[in-house]
Amino acid sequence: MPTDVTVNGRTYRWMDRPLVVVCVDGCQYEYITAAVAAGAAPYLGRLLAGAGTSFVADCVMPSFTNPNNLSIVTGVPPAVHGICGNYFFDPERGEEVMMNDPRHLRAGTILAAFSAAGATVAVITAKDKLRKLLGYQMKGICFSSEYADKVTLAENGISNVVELVGMPVPSVYSAALSEFVFVAGVKLLERERPDLMYLSTTDYIQHKAAPGTQQANDFYAMMDRNLARLDELKATLVLTADHGMNAKHGADGQPNVIYLQDTLDGWLGAGKARVILPITDPYVVHHGALGSFALVYVPAAAANRALGQRIAALPGIETVLTRAQAAAQFELPADRIGDLVVVSQRDTVIGTSRDRHDLSGLDVPLRSHGGTSEQKVPLLVNRLVGKQPGTRRWRNFDAFDLGLNLSRRPS
Ligand SMILES: [Zn+2]
Repeated sequence: MPTDVTVNGRTYRWMDRPLVVVCVDGCQYEYITAAVAAGAAPYLGRLLAGAGTSFVADCVMPSFTNPNNLSIVTGVPPAVHGICGNYFFDPERGEEVMMNDPRHLRAGTILAAFSAAGATVAVITAKDKLRKLLGYQMKGICFSSEYADKVTLAENGISNVVELVGMPVPSVYSAALSEFVFVAGVKLLERERPDLMYLSTTDYIQHKAAPGTQQANDFYAMMDRNLARLDELKATLVLTADHGMNAKHGADGQPNVIYLQDTLDGWLGAGKARVILPITDPYVVHHGALGSFALVYVPAAAANRALGQRIAALPGIETVLTRAQAAAQFELPADRIGDLVVVSQRDTVIGTSRDRHDLSGLDVPLRSHGGTSEQKVPLLVNRLVGKQPGTRRWRNFDAFDLGLNLSRRPS
């Protein structure tokens, strides 16, 4: 008889039926409520109306994709698992280091622990950049829809995914990339019924379209059909998000950007301080590498606190924290963040230098994330949960706790 599994200080009960945890990238809560109100998402509507249990949870800071996906699958904040963005700056080597590689991960995942204990596990991501991190030390199926036509049994634990799903491999900038994840999840649950599945989509639509727009509602209708099918197949379903999403532009449609590197160059001299944007990754077309979170590395001579106060006084800045403050308040690994951590307000993003951002790919007014203004995310489960302490601060990384420990039906 399989036993409980303890990972990173939390114990998870063995699933009484398959658990599917879905991370909907960029799912500001309003996307769901607007789609439900428009009649586009009847299944989610039933969950919100009491067929399931819904909470508003906080994601981890920075409200970016990788730190949050890793928090969800490890059950702990970045201070423990170590992934706090797509990049960190290594001051000793003087270079920016990409954190897509599992060697930067400092904690094991719930997925790997269950696979080691004998559970069958499947992970499907939209973009391939997350696959190796999510699949770290995990036995089972792990692939991205981006490279669905390149899967091999040896590397991904599965073959012929395109045939299984019955859809062509979608463009990396498309809603279909996420649809592929859902359809593959449904097919896998029908065919192999894994004990544990983790499905992670991409926020292409959320970057483009506000809650309640036709484009957004169509996307949530697609999700809703697939979620309903997973429910019909008797899975426990937990839905959460890596972060929310907000408009970051003025009434004229132009993005509200603080080019912080340019500002600091003006104050301190060119290149004296270094601004790192951990949102930067190989896929920047839909957000121009602009988000509401930045790290600043300053020379030892610059007085951090005074500089921090000066940055905090810039219009559009919400908070500036020192390294120690940010590590404590945002649960971040102190060795992988800047001397200063800068968060902009809800409608504003932070850039480096104006000439380093190519905004030509922004065909609609900028929507993005990264700040505390994108921290509120849904945490829904399709089962009833006993009374919980009203004081509990729900986190998106409570998803497995909710699905395995809190939401069982009395037998
Ligand atoms: Zn994301």
